[in-house]
Amino acid sequence: MFNNITWLYPQGCARAVTFSYDDGRNFDRRVIECLNRYGMKGTFNLCSEYCETDTKGNYIHLDEIAELYKGHEVAVHCPHHPYLERINRQQVLTEVMEDRRVFEKLVGYPVVGMAYPFGTWDDNVIEVLKSAGIVYSRNVLSTFKFNLPQNWLTWAPTCHHDGAMRVMADFKECHRTLALFYIWGHSYEFNENNNWEVLEQICEALPKDDDTWYATNGEIYAYIESMRNLIFTTDLTKVYNPTAREIWFSFKGEKRSVKSGELLEIK
Ligand SMILES: [Zn+2]
Repeated sequence: MFNNITWLYPQGCARAVTFSYDDGRNFDRRVIECLNRYGMKGTFNLCSEYCETDTKGNYIHLDEIAELYKGHEVAVHCPHHPYLERINRQQVLTEVMEDRRVFEKLVGYPVVGMAYPFGTWDDNVIEVLKSAGIVYSRNVLSTFKFNLPQNWLTWAPTCHHDGAMRVMADFKECHRTLALFYIWGHSYEFNENNNWEVLEQICEALPKDDDTWYATNGEIYAYIESMRNLIFTTDLTKVYNPTAREIWFSFKGEKRSVKSGELLEIK
């Protein structure tokens, strides 16, 4: 029975794409403009201290955050961008909670995602993140694969945007279920390298079909965790969805879904 069920993303999509941009530099505006034009979504990991104190226009100011990143996700990158494994636990806690507090006031939703400053962490840091309510955190170790993370708190991306076109053909041919193409970078790199066309190329090349879901990091996390929280009868013929999300799957080749609160017979 169970082997006949294949999990899918929302609307029955087999695969997903997400972007993640760090540091909240002013060039985020151009990344957002491009993503919006193509209907794509990203998570933007910001440092509240820089957003608050910058007077030179190098960073997105606090006042602009809610409007600019609407439809995308704002996440933690720590106010002072420290090497978290080199400071003590209380400092880590303060860094994370300060970003959460500042950004939540602006965007109005729980800010529970993060990218590690410099991409580094250790076990101590992870323990603190759990206590600080962070549910996922991204590193910078490219896998060049399309897998979901084994551990949300050490979420490794597929690749930096510079490497995205190298695996684009593989992704386009990849229709295995719950595939994820995760692209990360810094918006200022497009400016420094004068290669904004790379972002355009990636967005142009990514599939625009009904098999591909474009989502923020947080939306992917929330969907997969909801899927994992479905409750089955012992014979796997009935499934109860206690979560707030409709969860999609394929059964005997047919796309189905179990709605929020629904007890569904699978036959
Ligand atoms: Zn950074």
